Amino acid sequence: MADQKLFIDGEYVDAASGETFTTYEPATNTPYAEVAKASREDAERAIKAARRAFDEGPWPKMSGAERAEKLNKVADLIEANSAKFAEAEARDGGGTIKKATFADIPGGVGAFRWFARCAAEQPEQVDREPNPFPPSTNYVRYEPHGVTTGVIPWNFPFIMASWKIAPSLAAGNCAVIKPASYTSVSALMLGEIFQEADIPPGVINIVAGPGGTVGEELASSPLVDKTAFTGSTEVGRRIMQLASGTVKPTTLELGGKSANIVLDDANLDIAAAAVLFGTFFHNGQVCESGTRALVHESIYDELVDLLVERASKMVIGDPLDFASDLGPLVSRGQVETVERYVKLGRDEVGEPVCGGSRPEGLPDNLDHEAFYKPTIFTQVPNSAKIAQEEIFGPVLCVIPFSTDDEAVAIANDSIYGLAGGVQSTNIERAQGIANRMRTGTVWINDYHMITPDKPFGGYKQSGIGRELGVEGYRAYQQVKHVHTSTSTTKEEYLQFSALSGEI
Ligand code: NAD
Repeated sequence: MADQKLFIDGEYVDAASGETFTTYEPATNTPYAEVAKASREDAERAIKAARRAFDEGPWPKMSGAERAEKLNKVADLIEANSAKFAEAEARDGGGTIKKATFADIPGGVGAFRWFARCAAEQPEQVDREPNPFPPSTNYVRYEPHGVTTGVIPWNFPFIMASWKIAPSLAAGNCAVIKPASYTSVSALMLGEIFQEADIPPGVINIVAGPGGTVGEELASSPLVDKTAFTGSTEVGRRIMQLASGTVKPTTLELGGKSANIVLDDANLDIAAAAVLFGTFFHNGQVCESGTRALVHESIYDELVDLLVERASKMVIGDPLDFASDLGPLVSRGQVETVERYVKLGRDEVGEPVCGGSRPEGLPDNLDHEAFYKPTIFTQVPNSAKIAQEEIFGPVLCVIPFSTDDEAVAIANDSIYGLAGGVQSTNIERAQGIANRMRTGTVWINDYHMITPDKPFGGYKQSGIGRELGVEGYRAYQQVKHVHTSTSTTKEEYLQFSALSGEI
């Protein structure tokens, strides 16, 4: 079993209390790691280390190009250790090794490389037009906020840690990150990489511990200048309240119930793949999952048949086996949530057309109570609770529609607005629909294609602000306008004419 300590001020340390907690491999329900359990005191220690590193250390004074070099080194080192990170990710969170190898670790590396590029290429200062009156030259500077904090969820621990750390450091901030308790290991392992890449002490600190103490301190501390959170909408509201005490700029990436619209002219082969991947990737434990498939009535039955046929062929099994499409859910508790919603679905719309139970025939070494079959409910009214509430499990609602306007109306009838899809062979028609969807991302003839250079985030209760893209880089910077007077005579100075009499 691995031991994992907190990473504060460039060193691995025990929690001040000496306490630890055990994380379990969801696939087997056996202990995986003993993790140092931070308290509010450790969070304060980490924030102070970041504060010192920002106020007194070299990091914010380095040029963007110098920081880029360091962050590219971080990316190189992660790549060199990718098998180790992928295994930790799969064992700790239960996602498949296939997902960890091809999505999680490259996704994290991609974020470090993209934000390194932003540091090197995005201008730190931009001239603006001179003002004729009062005569002046003007420039705008992009500066780091100072200390930033990030609280992240359990579903993509490695990518989420990278999305919070890379833009912060690239922009010259110093950071403190808190992973979710179920899945702290891969984020904490990054400490070694930062040591090897010679990132100065205190620039990045990683503390694992309870949200109610450590997370609250990170969101509320007056020593913190900006906070970012990814997780549930409920906790997001709390983060906003906590950050409001010091009016901290706050980025929130929250829940979703995204619509994947299949038009009557879609290529059904591609559409079925997009719906299945869009819903069941990582067992639907993905914020942008397209868990509402809106399907045109003329192709409804044919598409549902394809979905059922292919969903039943998905391989559920040991996440460490490359042949597995789906592993366990993150915890038995998450399975219970799914079971509760499936029962609700049975009451609301009737029997699912596939799934609706735990899989049979799994090997004895696996924890059978942690797995759940891909489940599809059909003829679901959009008003049903299973179509409105985020389940965060392998449950798809298939909803019929008859016109494009109706599809858009149903898609937008949600408190969320994170993402969505349109499946169609008519790109102009699909883009017209995409433009009317009130969400931060839309994939046409695809799904889940998040790339580090394009912004990602939500409308409505799916969040505030954007991560990734140039937008995600700028979110980690303050904007300063510097006005330099070029007045040569007393008459030209606005301040003299604004008040009567001599100053
Ligand atoms: P969660 O909200 O329960 O927890 C997220 C993090 O917040 C954890 O680290 C937790 O310890 C911490 N936390 C809990 N209470 C806190 C408090 N009072 N103060 C500060 N921190 C606190 O979410 P989860 O169950 O880990 O993840 C699932 C949720 O995350 C889903 O709703 C999903 O949609 C969302 N999510 C969103 C995105 C996105 O980019 N929009 C990405 C991934 C996950």
